[in-house]
Amino acid sequence: MAVTLGYAEPLDDDFDKESFPSKIGGKPQWLDPTHPLSLEKVQCDECASPMVLLMQLYAPEDEPAEAFHRMLYVFICRNGGCHMASARRCMRVVRSQLPEDNDIYTAQASEAAGSCSDDDEDEDDISWSLAEQVKPASVCAVCGLAGSKACSKCHKQFYCSRAHQVADWDAGHRAQCGNARPQATNTAVHTHKLQRMVYPELVIVSEEEDASQLETGNGDYDDDDDDEGSDDDGEDNEGIKPEDMALVPVSAEKVEDSEVDVDRAFLVFQRRIQKSPDQVIRYTRSSDSSEPLFVSDMGKPEAQADVPDCELCGTAREFEFQIMPQMLNYLSMDSADPASVDWGTLLVYTCPKSCNGASGASAYAAEVVCRQNFSSQGIGEKFVRALHGDDSGITRQIESLRV
Ligand SMILES: [Zn+2]
Ligand SMILES: [Zn+2]
Ligand SMILES: [Zn+2]
Ligand SMILES: [Zn+2]
Repeated sequence: MAVTLGYAEPLDDDFDKESFPSKIGGKPQWLDPTHPLSLEKVQCDECASPMVLLMQLYAPEDEPAEAFHRMLYVFICRNGGCHMASARRCMRVVRSQLPEDNDIYTAQASEAAGSCSDDDEDEDDISWSLAEQVKPASVCAVCGLAGSKACSKCHKQFYCSRAHQVADWDAGHRAQCGNARPQATNTAVHTHKLQRMVYPELVIVSEEEDASQLETGNGDYDDDDDDEGSDDDGEDNEGIKPEDMALVPVSAEKVEDSEVDVDRAFLVFQRRIQKSPDQVIRYTRSSDSSEPLFVSDMGKPEAQADVPDCELCGTAREFEFQIMPQMLNYLSMDSADPASVDWGTLLVYTCPKSCNGASGASAYAAEVVCRQNFSSQGIGEKFVRALHGDDSGITRQIESLRV
């Protein structure tokens, strides 16, 4: 099975009706809206701020039955300075799932199915909607986490934390609180300010990676060390053409920096994504080659040390998907800010059994996210700026590969 690539696209009109969206940014859409995630699970260890949703991915499984609906949520701290620390301190992944038979959703045959023959029970023809008796719990007006605190004046606005209560007050709730008929313009400004406290919301659409596009590979895309030995000579560089080598950023400052030895994994990475440079997700669970596409030979996560076994069932976690540096493009960050959030790639490892643990379906299982940086600091930012089109040097190099 091929790798599934995810791309970011603007929300379309149908997005509101989507029960199980895969998306970047915005507030989390909880699989079980009666049990939103609480702040303690996603509070930054560095600055104690509530982390915000980076993305959520709907990734259902046939087995076990409890994972019939399965959603992965990735949260990160928005404070770039915190990302100097290890990923486990400023990023989290949680998994939420529900069996097909649950009290939250009711299944309906969609219109498309109605026109087909009755025995055609394709899952794609089923649409899900919240069951009538389901009352979503209060969530934070700013970030969408469980709203454990209410505005003490109007008792109508909820928050995950004092920090977000203050932020909302300043953003416009001050003028709106208790006001039965707030001015439409005020409301619009308030809404806009709230939206800016989370990442911009975009839908993730997926598409299989076209293996035929990878024609220059000679099967040489895996970056396993070729330990066979005998014919190592030249083998490593076979298929890597001089113009690929030119992908090394060659601004004056970098040429002087002798540490900029772009490693083999980086070249493989560049070559692999060049035909689909806008990919923001690579999903490989249950594919034959469930290996991450590393951005460097250095800093690969290690079992146990970086990827501990599932705390609930003891099974070794496995790689499921990765977030590409291209996603940084969509987060409306100031790339000139040295303290902006940055990564080479984020690697998400999950329990292969999709276990539920003791606390049942409404619990959120913690999974693991590891960050791998490019081998030399600054390449990531240049790489992203290049895809963004405002770094002339590397842009030309990447542009030449898009032909
Ligand atoms: Zn932080
Ligand atoms: Zn909040
Ligand atoms: Zn209020
Ligand atoms: Zn497990």
